[in-house]
Amino acid sequence: MSNLHELTLADLKKHFPHPELRDVQAGALSAIAESKTGVVLEVPTGEGKTAIGIAALSATAEKVGGRLFYVTPTKALLEQLDRVYPERFTVVYGRAEYPCLYYHDTGKDVNARESPCYLLKCPHRVSQETGETEEAGVVPCPYLLAKFEARMAMEKSRLVACTVAFYLTNRMLVAGWTQQEEPSCIVVDEIHQLPRIARGIFEYTLSDWHLARSAELISSLDQAQADIIIRFRKSFMGISLKRDPKTKSLFTADEITRLLEIMRELDAEGLEAKIKQAVSDGRIDPQEDRTELKLLEDLTRSIPRFISSLSYSLPTGDREPLNYVYSFYYKKDDPEFADSRRKSRYYMTIRGYYVQPLIKRVMGSNVVAYSGTIGNPDILAHETGLRLPFCSFGSSFPVGNARIFMPNNTPDLAASKRARDDLKDSLKLIAKASKRFDSSGHRSLVVVISDDERQKFIEIAGRQGLEAISYGNGITAKEAARRFVAGEGSVLVGTSANYAEGIDLPKGIAPVIFFLRPGYQRPDDPEVQFEQSRFGKSRCWALWQWRVMIEALQVRGRNIRNAEDLGVCIFVSQGFRHFLYGSLPEWLRPSYRNERPWEQCIREVEELLRK
Ligand code: SF4
Repeated sequence: MSNLHELTLADLKKHFPHPELRDVQAGALSAIAESKTGVVLEVPTGEGKTAIGIAALSATAEKVGGRLFYVTPTKALLEQLDRVYPERFTVVYGRAEYPCLYYHDTGKDVNARESPCYLLKCPHRVSQETGETEEAGVVPCPYLLAKFEARMAMEKSRLVACTVAFYLTNRMLVAGWTQQEEPSCIVVDEIHQLPRIARGIFEYTLSDWHLARSAELISSLDQAQADIIIRFRKSFMGISLKRDPKTKSLFTADEITRLLEIMRELDAEGLEAKIKQAVSDGRIDPQEDRTELKLLEDLTRSIPRFISSLSYSLPTGDREPLNYVYSFYYKKDDPEFADSRRKSRYYMTIRGYYVQPLIKRVMGSNVVAYSGTIGNPDILAHETGLRLPFCSFGSSFPVGNARIFMPNNTPDLAASKRARDDLKDSLKLIAKASKRFDSSGHRSLVVVISDDERQKFIEIAGRQGLEAISYGNGITAKEAARRFVAGEGSVLVGTSANYAEGIDLPKGIAPVIFFLRPGYQRPDDPEVQFEQSRFGKSRCWALWQWRVMIEALQVRGRNIRNAEDLGVCIFVSQGFRHFLYGSLPEWLRPSYRNERPWEQCIREVEELLRK
C-alpha cells in the first residue's frame, strides 16, 4: 500500500508552505489525503501547484521519512523551484550544468557532459560511497559532489529536486541508484511530458561518420574490434540504402537481427580497458584528443545499451517489440546535405517505446503528479503506466479574461485537405491581424508547426512591415523569446516544438496568440508507423488526438499565468474544430467562440484589448 495513505489533511495543511491556502490548493490537498495509491491532479496554471507538492513531500518527511523527490521536466523549472523555495531542496542538475575540473585545470572550458570522464584518472572524482575525492585535498568534481549530496539528502529524508531525465536515467541505468527502494513520495511536475522524456532516455543514434571515426581510433588498439565496427557500419548503410533517401524508415525484424549479431561480437569491457591503458601510457592524450576520447567513451559505454535496446526491438514468443529502429540518409549529391556541412550522411536510431513498466518500477506507488493539461486521464495512464485516481480542478482566474476563438471561415490546413494557397493566405491573415493589434500596442505570439511555415511567416511579416522576432542564424529559441519579452519586435514566431511550452508571456507581453494548425505527426513518422502496427489505426487515433489536444491547451495557456492577465488565443485551422471544445476543461468552456468569421473575431479581440 502507498505511504500516502498515512497522511491526513491536517498533516498536509501543517506543511503547506504559505499562510494562505487557495480553494484549488485545498481541494488538491484533500485529494492527496484521500488517496490510498497516489494521485494525478489537473491543476490550472497559476494556482500554485508547487506548494501542493511541497506540502505532500514535507508531510511525508515528517510522518514516514524515506526518499523524497520533486521532479520537473526542464532545467528552467528546476531553477525556478530553487529560486522560489531556496533552502527547501537539495537540487541536482544534469552533467552539462557543471564544469569539468580535469579540463578547467588546464584552462579549457569543458563541462562534465563533454568530458570523457569514465576513461580518465581524475583526481577530482568524488566517491559516491564516501564523498571523498580520488586525491586528498583537491577541489571535488562539482557534478559528482552534487550527486553525492543528493544521495546523502535522500538517505536523510530531505527533499531532493532534479529533472525527470536525471531521475529516470539514474534510477533506470546507474549502479547505486537502480537498487534503491521506491520513494516514500515523489512529486512529478508536468506529468504529461513524462512519456516523451522517458522514451528519449532510451534513444540512441549512430551515424556512418561516428562509426568510421571510432573504427579508425580503435584500429591502433584492437584491429579485430575495429573490423567489427566497420562491418556493422557497412551493414546498417546497406539496409538503409534499400529505402528512399531523406525518409525515416523502420527496420524489419530480420534486419535488426542481422545488426544485433554483429554488435554482439563487440567486447565493450575489453575495449574500455584497452583505451584506459592507452590513456595511462600516453598513447592517447586526453587534452589533445578529448573529442576522440569522448567518442570512444560514448561508443564503449553505449554498446551494452545498444545491444539490449536492439534485442527489445524484436518480438519474442510472448511479447511484441518494445522498441523500434529506423534509419535516415541523404544521397551523396543532395544539396541540402552539402549545405548543412554535416559529417554524417547515414543515421540509425534505436528508440525506446514501451517505457510504461520501467516508469512504474522507478516511480513506485507514492506518486503525486500534476499538470495544467491532462485531458484524458486514461490515455495518460496508458502512456505512463501510472494508473492513479484523477482529480481535475477549475481555475480561480476570471474566465472572462480568457477568450478562445475558432473562426468559422478559415480553411482546414491539414496537408491532405488544404488548397494550394491556403497556407500562405492563412499566414498572411495572421500577419495582417498582428499588425492591427500591434498598432494599438498589443503584441502577438504566432505558433506554427513546421520550420518552413515559420520562415514563410517571417517573410510575409517582413513584407507587411511587421517586425517578427524568431530564432535561427545562431540565435536560439530561448534567446529570441528573451529578446521579445524584453520588448523587441511586434510578434514572436516559432514552431510548437519551441514555443508550445516553456515560455511565459504574461502581463500583456503577448495578449494574443495565433496557433496555425494541429501538429499531428506525419503518417510516415516511424513512431506513427510503429504505433499503428502495434495498436491498430482506430486505437492510435485517440492517442494522436490526445497529443495534439495537450499541445493546443499548452499553447493557449502561454499568455495567462495569473488572475490579472488577459489572454486571447485564435486557433486558425478548421482542423482544431473537431476536438478543441471537447478538450477544454469545464471551467474554460464559456470562453470558447466558434460561430464567427475571422474578421469578426479580430474585431472582438480589438474590443477586448481596449477594455
Ligand atoms: S570526475 Fe573529473 S573528469 Fe569527471 S567530470 Fe568530474 S572533474 Fe571531470
